[in-house]
Order: sequence, then C-alpha cells, then structure tokens
Amino acid sequence: MKILISGAGVAGPAAAFWLTRSGHEVVMVERSNELRSGGYVIDFWGLGYDIAEKMGLLAQIRGSGYQVKEVRFVNENGKRRGGFSTDIFTKMTGGRFTSVQRSEVSAAIFNALDDKTTCIFGDSITSLADDGEGVNVEFENASPGRFDLVLGADGLHSKVRELTFGAETQFEKPLGYYVAAINIEGYPHRDELVYVSHAVRGRQVSRFSMRGDRTLFLFVFRDEYLHGSMPKTAEQQRTALRSIFAAGGWECSEILTRLDEVDDIYFDRVSQIRMPSWTRGRIGLIGDSAACVSLLAGEGTGLAITEAYVLAGELLRSNNDHKAAFAAYQERLMPFLSTKQNSAAAFASSFVPKSSLGITFRNIITRLMSIRPVAEYFVGRDLRDHLKLPDYGLGKHIGEKAHAAKSAAN
Ligand SMILES: Cc1cc2nc3c(=O)[nH]c(=O)nc-3n(C[C@H](O)[C@H](O)[C@H](O)COP(=O)(O)OP(=O)(O)OC[C@H]3O[C@@H](n4cnc5c(N)ncnc54)[C@H](O)[C@@H]3O)c2cc1C
Repeated sequence: MKILISGAGVAGPAAAFWLTRSGHEVVMVERSNELRSGGYVIDFWGLGYDIAEKMGLLAQIRGSGYQVKEVRFVNENGKRRGGFSTDIFTKMTGGRFTSVQRSEVSAAIFNALDDKTTCIFGDSITSLADDGEGVNVEFENASPGRFDLVLGADGLHSKVRELTFGAETQFEKPLGYYVAAINIEGYPHRDELVYVSHAVRGRQVSRFSMRGDRTLFLFVFRDEYLHGSMPKTAEQQRTALRSIFAAGGWECSEILTRLDEVDDIYFDRVSQIRMPSWTRGRIGLIGDSAACVSLLAGEGTGLAITEAYVLAGELLRSNNDHKAAFAAYQERLMPFLSTKQNSAAAFASSFVPKSSLGITFRNIITRLMSIRPVAEYFVGRDLRDHLKLPDYGLGKHIGEKAHAAKSAAN
C-alpha cells in the first residue's frame, strides 16, 4: 500500500520503519523544516524499550542517553530535602531504563529508515477526503496525492485528528499544568547524572546537566499562574516565565537571566488526548495524536513506538485488510493506554504540590522511595508493562517473499 504519515517525531518514523519492512511504500510529511534536534530529556523503558531492541536501535539510544543516578529535590538554598537514588528503578526494570533526549530517539529511528520512505519537510496536510477506496490529500506546498491509508502521528495538536474527527477541545483533557523546556550552553552549576528540582507552591524548576556543556531546564507550573491564556511568541513565553518564577528562590533568578539566549522554547499545556476511537475509514492515529498520556506518565515515547509497531503488525497479520487491522490495533491497545492515562491523571495533583506543606510531604515520601515496598507501591505498577505483544514477524515478511521468489526462479 501507499501510506501517508503526518509527523516525523517518534511515532511517525517508527511506523515508517515497520511498514516499509512489510513491503509498503511510505510518504512522511513533517511541518518543521528539518528533523527537530535538542529539546527535553525523556525516560525510556517498558514495551517501547523492548521494541527499540527489536529494531536494533537500543545500543545507539542507550549510547546517546544518560544513566541518571539520583533525583534530588532541593530547598531555596540548594540543600537536599528529598528525592531518591535511581538504583531502585534499575532493579525494578532489570536495568532496562535510560534517560535520553526525545530528539535522539526520533533521529535514531529516522536514520534507520530505508529508501522506501520519502520525507517531505516544511509542509502540512490541509485537507483529507476519504472516498472508501483511498484518501485524496492536499498539502500546503506539495502537489495533491492519493493514498491507501493516512496515519496521523502529528502529536498532541494533531492536524489529521482535527481534519478527521473535529476540534481538539473535544478530546483534550488538561491536567492543570503548563510546561516549558529550554536548553542552555555553559550554565555554571552542574551535577552530573543528577536530576535536580526545586519547587515552591505550584511551581517547579528542574535542571539536568547534559553533554557538550549543555543544561536542560524544565519549568512546570499550575495553570492558575497563566489565567487561561497561552503565550504564543518566544518573547511572551519568556515574559510569562520571568513573572511566574521571579520569586522562585534557589537558582531561579540566574536561570531567568539566561532566557534571552533561547529562541526555541518548548511551551505547552500538560494535557492528555482521550478519544473513543482512533481510526475512521482509511485514516488512523498513533502516538500522542491518538492517546497522549502526558509527561506525567513519563512513557509517551515508548508508547508511541508501541502503537506504531502494533498498527504495522496488525496490518501484516490481517493481510492488509485495514478495517480488521485498525479494529485489532485499537482493541489491543486502548484499554492499556487508558490505564496509563488514568494513572498519570491520578498523580497530577501531587506532581507539583500547591502548598509548602504539600512540598514537605512529597519530599518525605520521595526519601522513602529507596525502600523497595514503598517504591513498589508508588511506581511499581507503572514501571512494568504487563501487556504481552505478539511477535508479528515484521521484517521477516520481506525475507520470506524474496526467498519464495528466488526458489521460484530456481
Ligand atoms: C516536557 C516533556 C517531558 C516528557 N517526558 C517524557 C518521558 O520522560 N518519557 C516519555 O516516554 N515521554 C515523555 N514525554 C512525552 C513524549 O515526548 C511524547 O509522548 C512523544 O514525543 C510522542 O511522540 P509522537 O511522535 O506521537 O509526537 P511528537 O514527538 O510530538 O511528534 C510529532 C511530530 O509531528 C510534527 N507535526 C505537528 N503538526 C504537524 C503537521 N500539521 N504536519 C506535519 N507534521 C506535524 C511535529 O513537528 C513533530 O515532529 C514528555 C513530553 C514533554 C512535553
């Protein structure tokens, strides 16, 4: 089949990887002018980690990642007040856990694509018309095309979802926070392999020292600080962060003076996407566009890879009957994704506590995380993916076909 994928983040390249390995031709359209680099660091484990291993990409992903040793919560003077050693996560996941820039995972998958995928950068779909036999697609720049299937892998604010299912507001579940991420070179305070966080009533800033003398800063704050408005330009975003974190204590004033150095600020609501169905006709959604779990789940990247793998696998298993494949994809993954979303949403209120008392309480709990039963109680269920996925035999298919052709020729 000729399949169009919107979005070259994580889910898009992962779907292209598996679909081309079962013989399909893929066109990927990405709004940015190039593959996005830099950005925030994600934790990577679970089913997505296992699939990355099947893809032969694990060594590369782990090589560009960081084996974080400690999560440390500090007070306004930088003194340790809470947190935990990550040894416990290492034990609970059998060492199958790493932290890595999202863009590194995206690039690792993208660079593994073969010439059966064409990627168009700096473009976006503007219309989709599914006539039952195929989908006619128009783009902002490229000439119109016709495809057997269209997959939306274009993230939280998916264009394919909007064009196919309607306005985002129907499906978005805001979790009560905003998040901003920036990346700065030459920040003088560094704690290698330690994720350092400071919270003050509904606001939290964290820093993580990366290679190349770079530091990632992550600001998370409750939505009441923005009074419902969304700063759009980099200048508006800097102004918002300066006013919200001005009285933040710790290194806040030093961090805020560095904001002018950054043009590329990731700034968004912390939301989930919850839909009753991820597919309609010949159009399907994968990754955040279908079922964003949010940063509070800490597993969206792995889940995006899982969705791509299952969708491609179900297509192969159903002999390219897209109706059967879409139904099986949804049946297999929707209950699992809903559990992940519910668990992240339940944790939302304690992610950045509203009061000083709440922050103290969180610090105490996190200190107890080095005790295995406490860690099991708080994160055990979320750290282990109990869903068993079939081995779809993806990739083997091409080998078998080639073998059959060779045998026939002989
Ligand atoms: C601050 C933060 C921390 C996070 N921490 C973690 C973590 O610890 N662990 C984890 O696993 N996950 C984490 N996540 C979630 C993770 O980043 C996402 O779940 C994951 O990136 C989803 O992949 P995706 O491919 O579905 O979407 P994305 O990675 O968002 O990719 C979507 C792509 O579509 C493109 N696009 C958008 N609109 C269009 C359009 N109209 N046309 C064409 N292309 C378009 C975008 O440019 C982008 O390249 C975090 C997220 C945030 C914001």
